[in-house]
Amino acid sequence: MTTIDLRRLHIRPGDVREERLDVELEPFVLGGQRYESAPSHLPVEVEISRASGATIFDLQLDVRVTGPCMRCLAFAEIECHVSAREFNDPDAPKADELRSDYVTDDHLDVGAWARDAIALELPEQILCRPDCAGLCPVCGKDLNAEPHEHTEREPDPRWAALEQFRGV
Ligand SMILES: [Zn+2]
Ligand SMILES: [Zn+2]
Repeated sequence: MTTIDLRRLHIRPGDVREERLDVELEPFVLGGQRYESAPSHLPVEVEISRASGATIFDLQLDVRVTGPCMRCLAFAEIECHVSAREFNDPDAPKADELRSDYVTDDHLDVGAWARDAIALELPEQILCRPDCAGLCPVCGKDLNAEPHEHTEREPDPRWAALEQFRGV
């Protein structure tokens, strides 16, 4: 668990603090496949400021996630920049949006927040390339390497003969 002890920072209204820390990320499981962040120790930047009773947290990170392409299972990687903001006012009622879920006993849980923020940013489909053709649903071959179609039935030889005849 990677946290920031907010009491240690003594932030007063008008103050802005920048904290940099490394968060260790567990792999993400999407559609039954594992996607790992590289590096697994991810540098995260959190800017902390205060305004009228509430503390404002701004998180920034860049992550590279690698795993199997969701269409053809080849290697896929995506890079994304993640930025997120949380507010915390300890006097706000519970479940209020000014009460951050990531603050407990004056500790900001940067690890959990970074992980959730990345999960929100990941595309629904992680692909080796945007136009990946995927695997053939009939024979299972990679359609990127061997583009092909299966006709529903083998063509009738009499038909082929007729085509030939018409072509002349
Ligand atoms: Zn693919
Ligand atoms: Zn096929």
